[in-house]
Amino acid sequence: MTSARKCRCRKGAPLKRVFSIAPGNDVVECPDCGIQYAQLVPEPGEADESIYGYEYFRPELEQKVERRRLVFSALLAEVESFTGGPGRLLDVGAGDGALVRVALERGWSPEATDISSVMARHVGENLGIPAHHGPLEELSLESDRYDAVVLNHVLEHVSDPFTTLETVARLVRERGVVRVEVPNLGSLSSRWKSFQSRYRLKRNPWKHYATGHHYWYFTPRTLVHTMETSGLSVLSTRAPAQQWGEMSPWIRLVNPIFDRWRWGGHLVAYGRRAVRPRGAGQNSV
Ligand SMILES: [Zn+2]
Repeated sequence: MTSARKCRCRKGAPLKRVFSIAPGNDVVECPDCGIQYAQLVPEPGEADESIYGYEYFRPELEQKVERRRLVFSALLAEVESFTGGPGRLLDVGAGDGALVRVALERGWSPEATDISSVMARHVGENLGIPAHHGPLEELSLESDRYDAVVLNHVLEHVSDPFTTLETVARLVRERGVVRVEVPNLGSLSSRWKSFQSRYRLKRNPWKHYATGHHYWYFTPRTLVHTMETSGLSVLSTRAPAQQWGEMSPWIRLVNPIFDRWRWGGHLVAYGRRAVRPRGAGQNSV
């Protein structure tokens, strides 16, 4: 384990301790921007096989193929509403490649990255697309290359989301779009679980933080701040209780309200590369 990098806006005020994961490793909150994170994260190589081996992906691989196809088709249709159609896609943290498989069918030219060597190899061999192994910021990918960059439940796992998003801002084309989805710490359910954890009303307090493999915990406000600190401008955010697929009548009724007020568990943000100030490395044509 190594020390997590601090959030970028920290001005030296003492961090607030939220709870302790283990001796010497707390979940802390930045007093300036409010982002919460674990103080220790694994080294990149350490995380590869020990956390993200085949076993980590097994539940995902065994989920209904049809349901995941439906979810990823809807996700890509949403991305296409920003890009105007398929183009070059980068799926960061592609896992078993279910999203890039659907992207191929929809006419995209996808590429995948994954911190897991097992999964990068699996995707490359099965789909015949470029699949890069390693943390995004350590890969030598071409700048201004992608029409869409997708980070689907990835940013909460990385050692430093600011560096990851700065890399994303470099890779995405000027008119391209970035889609980030993370668990919503500001959801009604998370807030209730945090309340119960704080007052010891819960058998497994703080379990919803998933501290074994999540190191950064975002609310709508801190996700927007993180993206905007990292060279992206945010176009929209939403937080449905459930993403597409079969919904119970109850969820169908409350979902638009949850989405609108960012109360749901799936926090989604779209962004573009922020316009760089004149003379700051911008190529004039
Ligand atoms: Zn901060």
